[in-house]
Amino acid sequence: MKKGNLSRVKDVLLKIRNIVITTHVNPDGDGISSELALYLFLRKLGKQVMIINKDPVPEMFAFLPAVDEIRVSEQIPTHPDLVIVTDCGGLERTGLKIPENYNPMVIVIDHHLTNDQNGEINLLDQDASATGELIYHLIKAMETDCPAKMDYPIALCLYTSIFTDTGSFRYSNTTSEALEVASKLLSYGINSWTVAEQVYESRPYATLRLLGRFLQTIGISRKGRFAWGSIVKEDFHKTGTREEHTEGLVNYPRSIRGVEVSVFFREMDSDLVKISMRSKGEVNVAAIAEKFGGGGHHNAAGCTMKGSMMEVRKKVLRIVSESLQDDVPEEDSVEVCG
Ligand code: 5GP
Ligand code: MN
Repeated sequence: MKKGNLSRVKDVLLKIRNIVITTHVNPDGDGISSELALYLFLRKLGKQVMIINKDPVPEMFAFLPAVDEIRVSEQIPTHPDLVIVTDCGGLERTGLKIPENYNPMVIVIDHHLTNDQNGEINLLDQDASATGELIYHLIKAMETDCPAKMDYPIALCLYTSIFTDTGSFRYSNTTSEALEVASKLLSYGINSWTVAEQVYESRPYATLRLLGRFLQTIGISRKGRFAWGSIVKEDFHKTGTREEHTEGLVNYPRSIRGVEVSVFFREMDSDLVKISMRSKGEVNVAAIAEKFGGGGHHNAAGCTMKGSMMEVRKKVLRIVSESLQDDVPEEDSVEVCG
């Protein structure tokens, strides 16, 4: 992270009054916790601040403080002086529509590999475990120059952000810096089990029925280097679930011994498919996702593609086959490609 940018962001935040905070579409634990932490801190500073997201907060994060104050809309209702975009590269990924002839100052706070640096100030660190880790440093830097201080609710958000983006402290972004920040956050009175229980041990029964259907779709490549699975709209109807209940499904194909890349296909509409990719080790799935207009991190990335489930699966699995020098077995190709 460029220290210069941290102090520039700090100066702007201390000065500007009217602020909107947002994050990417289909927000995750890091996006939501990051914006809530900033929101709570800026409110303590007496700022006029609002969180506006295009998509609602997944149920698993309903325990976070002030979560009910997040507005779900595609429009920014006021004309803020500043829009802060967290956990993605810029306004484009937020799905928000900015009123015409209106160019607010934009600050981007993010840790993704793929980032176009679209903000006026970009607080970026690809080595940060989560956007929440960057916000921790920002709040700590601001604390020294203002009356507002970090407290339990803010620490709870930031801990949740690092906890979820490191896959409960399992992924390679579980660096010593990440653990150091997490440790400091715990000292504000956070109970690690309470967070784990809220996020991962309080699932609705229906999500397990969805998981059952998903597991039956899992296929594996000829040499076993990649695996995939899918969910279609009917699966949601049959189980009474929604897209947020697919969280974590992509990890199951990756958990197979020898698999280096897993791909999860989710039917959004008859001609639109969301793709999530995960890898173990060497393979950079962000580079694969970028080929299809998406992005992400080295080991976790995604994109959305036009086409039927069959067409999209064929295209994506062909590219994955090429990059891994492996291929889809014939019997699966028939099923996959129709
Ligand atoms: P997920 O598979 O959980 O949706 O996303 C994995 C990672 O890839 C996240 O860091 C997410 O922000 C990123 N990602 C997912 N879909 C897209 C996309 O369509 N565009 C970009 N730029 N990043 C994405
Ligand atoms: Mn993140």
